[in-house]
Amino acid sequence: MVKTIGIVTSGGDAPGMNAAIRAVTRVAACRDVQMLGFERGWDGLLSNCYRKLTPRNVGGIIQTGGTILHTLRCPAFEQPQSIEVAAETLRQNNVDALVVIGGDGSFRGALELSKRSGVPMIGIPATIDNDVYGTDETIGFDTAVNTAVGAIDKIRDTAISHERIFIVEVMGRKRGFLALEVGICVGAEVILIPEKPLDTCDVIKIMEASSKKGKRAGIIVAAEGFGDSSKLTQEMQKQTSSEVRLSIVGYSQRGGSPTARSRLLASLFAEKAVNLICEGKGNLVVGLQNGVISSLDMEKSARGSKPLDLRLLQVAEMLSV
Ligand code: ADP
Repeated sequence: MVKTIGIVTSGGDAPGMNAAIRAVTRVAACRDVQMLGFERGWDGLLSNCYRKLTPRNVGGIIQTGGTILHTLRCPAFEQPQSIEVAAETLRQNNVDALVVIGGDGSFRGALELSKRSGVPMIGIPATIDNDVYGTDETIGFDTAVNTAVGAIDKIRDTAISHERIFIVEVMGRKRGFLALEVGICVGAEVILIPEKPLDTCDVIKIMEASSKKGKRAGIIVAAEGFGDSSKLTQEMQKQTSSEVRLSIVGYSQRGGSPTARSRLLASLFAEKAVNLICEGKGNLVVGLQNGVISSLDMEKSARGSKPLDLRLLQVAEMLSV
């Protein structure tokens, strides 16, 4: 019988992580399972640093961004000796299963720890990048999309008033999920993503065609991983007659109060995670697949590459005629 579940948030923070911590703790309490919250990502398992989570001490956090357990990137955890230390922490505290809230990197760490400790792991995907294989959406993605859309709507006011082109950089070092969705929602003239890079000439051609159609301002949404946005800005400024400015939305996308959608996803993923543990299952990642809360083998999720629907680029192109 499951008596103790550990929980850790790892990797980059995402709005809705707190909602997930709260929901895991409360569903566990309903099943008479105690919760240990390890602090500061994998580092908490290396230093045996945790606090007991109860339905009361996770109150008032559903609406807050970040993670009350803190998070970090922990390169030390990739060493076999570290994994053994973390396994010993789980043994010492009689942890029956561990819930890992994070992205694919955190799940790779969880798999190593499970191999060494025998403790089953359940992953809850939370990252604003939405790049976890096996779930249509991750916790925090919807919030980040809304934050970036809000910022770009404001930038568009200036773009229109001054008849300028704005290149707006949003997060996404490796993948373009955020940029693509944001680009459609703000009516961007061009969307630049790592999966389908365009060179400066292509971008200029699109913007010149847009100007010929009577558009006197424009928004280019660029994922940070598409290339060098300040170089693109300088080149466009030199090679066109338009005024071109760069605006970087930055870390505001990672924080802030989670949207209703991120809170709902966090709550439902958490409930599924505790249920799986109580059913004796492990090494799975919970997810949303075609509208259904489901689960997928953690190994597959951690190694898989989530496909991006590039057809959406064509939709964005049609919508910017
Ligand atoms: P995310 O979980 O958001 O993808 P990272 O890729 O930064 O974030 O991974 C978070 C942490 O997971 C890393 O800092 C490291 O501690 C751990 N990790 C990642 N890959 C491995 C691995 N192969 N073995 C052990 N730990 C890993």
